[in-house]
Amino acid sequence: MEAPFLAIHGVTRTFPAQGRRPATLALRPTDLALRQGEFVSILGPSGCGKSTLLRIVAGLDTATAGEVRLHGGKISGPGRERGMVFQSYTLFPWLTVEQNIRFGLAERGVPPPEQQAVAAKFIARVGLSGFERHWPRQLSGGMQQRVALARALANDPEILLLDEPFGALDHQTRELMQELLLEIFLADRKTVLFVTHDIDEAIFLSERVVVMTRRPGAIKLDLPIPLPYPRDWQIKTAPGFAALKATLMGAIREEVLATAAVG
Ligand code: ADP
Ligand code: MG
Repeated sequence: MEAPFLAIHGVTRTFPAQGRRPATLALRPTDLALRQGEFVSILGPSGCGKSTLLRIVAGLDTATAGEVRLHGGKISGPGRERGMVFQSYTLFPWLTVEQNIRFGLAERGVPPPEQQAVAAKFIARVGLSGFERHWPRQLSGGMQQRVALARALANDPEILLLDEPFGALDHQTRELMQELLLEIFLADRKTVLFVTHDIDEAIFLSERVVVMTRRPGAIKLDLPIPLPYPRDWQIKTAPGFAALKATLMGAIREEVLATAAVG
C-alpha cells in the first residue's frame, strides 16, 4: 500500500509536573493518516488534546512518544510546507495586510517583486483587494482571519493545519469563511487538517471527521462524510447531513457526559 501523505503514529503527550501542578496526560497513543488532498476535521470536547495534536504535527510541540511523518520524512520542527492558522488573531500589528502576507516570503529572501505578486494574488483570493495598506486593528475579526489564511497560503504549504480558525467569529461571518475555505481547498486540493468543536462546520467542510475522546484524548470515531463537493450552505439542511450530525453529536455527548459525571 502507498504510504500515507501525513502519518501520525502512536503519538502521545504528557505535560510534566510543574511546581504543585501534577503531570497531565493530554494524549493517549494516537494514529491518524491523511491522503494527499484530503480534508479531515478533528472534533472533540474542550481540553481533550486537539490543539496539542495539531501543534505536534506543526512541529511547535514535541510528542512524548510516537512520531509524525510527512511524505515519509519525520517531523522535528516547524516547516514552511505546513501552514498554520490559529483561532486568535496572530497578525503582526505593526505590519500592514500586505506586509503580513509577504512576511514569510521576505524571510526566505524571495525577491520583492515576486513577494508583491504573490501577496496580491492571495489578497484577491481571500477577497481583500483594496485593503493592502490597512493595519490589522482596522479590520474586523473575519477580515483578520482572511489575512491569516492568505499569509499561510502565500508560503505555498503542502498541508494546512487550522486550529479553530473561525472560532472567534460571529455565526454569519463564520459561514462565509467556511465557504471561502472550501473554495480554496477545491481549487488547490491542499491537504487540510482542521480542528473545531463545531459539528456543522466539520461536516460541511470535510471528507472525514475524526472524533476524540475526553482527555487523555484518543480517536474514538473516524467517520467518512459521503457528501459530494462542491457543497453549498443548503447542504446543512439536507437529511443526509442531519444523520451525520446525529452520529457525531452522540459520540461527543458521551464524552462530555462522562466528564461531567466525574466532576
Ligand atoms: P483542546 O485543544 O482539545 O481544547 P489542548 O490540546 O489545548 O485541548 O489541551 C489538552 C490538555 O493538555 C489540557 O488539559 C491542557 O490543560 C493541557 N495542556 C495543554 N498545553 C499544556 C502545556 N503547555 N502545559 C501543561 N498542560 C498543557
Ligand atoms: Mg484547542
